[in-house]
Amino acid sequence: MSASPQVLIAGAGPTGLAAALFLTRAGVSVRLIDAAPEPATTSKALAVNPRTLELLEPTGVADRIRAEGQDIHAIRIARDGEVVATLRPRWDRIAPGRPMTILPQTRTEGLLAGALADLGVRPERGSGLAALTQDADGVTAALTSGETVRSALLLGADGAHSATRHALNLPFPGDGSDTPWHLADVDIAGARQDEGRIEFQDAGPLIVLPFSGGTFRLIGFGADLAPRLPKGWTVTRTRWTSEFRVSHRMVPTMAVGRVALAGDAAHIHSPIGGRGMNLGIEDAFVFAACALDTLNGQPGRLADYDRLRHKIDGDWVAASRRLTGFVESASPTARLLKRHAPPLAAAVPGLIDRALKAGMGLDHPVRVR
Ligand SMILES: Cc1cc2nc3c(=O)[nH]c(=O)nc-3n(C[C@H](O)[C@H](O)[C@H](O)COP(=O)(O)OP(=O)(O)OC[C@H]3O[C@@H](n4cnc5c(N)ncnc54)[C@H](O)[C@@H]3O)c2cc1C
Repeated sequence: MSASPQVLIAGAGPTGLAAALFLTRAGVSVRLIDAAPEPATTSKALAVNPRTLELLEPTGVADRIRAEGQDIHAIRIARDGEVVATLRPRWDRIAPGRPMTILPQTRTEGLLAGALADLGVRPERGSGLAALTQDADGVTAALTSGETVRSALLLGADGAHSATRHALNLPFPGDGSDTPWHLADVDIAGARQDEGRIEFQDAGPLIVLPFSGGTFRLIGFGADLAPRLPKGWTVTRTRWTSEFRVSHRMVPTMAVGRVALAGDAAHIHSPIGGRGMNLGIEDAFVFAACALDTLNGQPGRLADYDRLRHKIDGDWVAASRRLTGFVESASPTARLLKRHAPPLAAAVPGLIDRALKAGMGLDHPVRVR
C-alpha cells in the first residue's frame, strides 16, 4: 500500500487530466494513473467548445488553447460539390470571447498536463486500474503494477473500455454501427484555414475541419477521401489515416458509492457535433465540485453528480444518435433535407446561432448543485 490520495483518478485523457486540475486547484490531493506508458500521440478530438473554454478559464488553460488553436468563422455546406449554404456563426452573440476553437486533442491534453505539472502533479503512467473494492470509509484499488492504493474517492476516467466500469459490474447499454468511418489528416493547398466544410455526396458525408498550420482533418465513409474534395483543393501531404466505428452507449448510473465515472467511461457517441471530450471536461468540473463537498463531510454529493450529469450526457448520446443517423442516411427524404434545409436555415436570422448553442450545450448552465 502506498501514498493515499483523497481522490484516485484512473485515466489521464482529457477527462482525467481536467478532473485532476480542478481538484488540485481546490486543494484536494490526487493521484492520476494511466495504463498507457506514454501520452497519446494522435488526436481524436479537435473541437474545443466555448463551454470548455469557460470552465478552464480560471486555470489559465483556456487562454493557452485560444493562443494555439484555430477559430472557425464559417461552415460551408455542399451537395455534390455545389455550396448550398454558408453558415457564419455569430460567436460574439453565442459565446462572447470564446469561439469554437480547433486544437488537436494531444495539445489540449498537453496544456492540461502542463497546468497540472505547475501545481506539482504528474500522471503516473504504465500502471492502470485492475480491480476495486469499496467500504463505508473509502476505496481500495488494485493496480496492474501490483500496487494497492487506498483513497476516499475514485474517479474512473479510463475511456470507452473502462476497467472502473467493469469493476463496478455496470452494463453499457446502447448500440454500435458496423459501417467504418475513415479519418485522414492531410495538408491541403487551395482551402481556407478558417472554414469548415460538410459535403453531402452519394458516397456519404465528407467533413473537412481545418487545424493548425494548413492541415485539415477529413472524416467520411470510404477509405479514399481525398479525391472527393472540391475542385481546386490539392492534398500535398497525408499525415495520418485511421478508421473508427461509431457506438452510442450510456451507463445506467455515473456514481456507485464512492466511485464515479466520467467522460467516455460513462458515455460514448459519434464524433459528429464534437462533444465527447467537451462533455468529459464538463463531467470533470461537476465531479470536482461534488467530490470536494463529499470530502468536506456533505453526504449524497456523488449521487448529486450522477443526477446533475446523467441526463445531460444521456440526452446528448440520444441526440448524437439521431444526428448521425440523419447524416449517414441516403433515403430520399434525408437527401432532400440535406440539400434544402441548410440554405433555409441560413436565411432565418439567428437560427444557426440558436442551433449551435443547443448543439454545444450552451442553452443550459453547467450546474454543480
Ligand atoms: C474521430 C474522432 C473525433 C473526435 N472529435 C471530437 C471533437 O472534435 N470534440 C470532442 O469534444 N470530442 C471528440 N471526440 C471524442 C473524444 O476524443 C473523446 O470523447 C475523449 O477522448 C474522451 O476523453 P476521456 O478522457 O474520457 O477518455 P480517453 O481519451 O479515452 O482517455 C482514457 C485514458 O484512460 C487510460 N486508461 C485505459 N484503461 C485504463 C486503466 N485500466 N487504468 C488507468 N487508465 C486507463 C487510457 O490510456 C487513456 O489515456 C472524437 C472522437 C473520435 C473517435
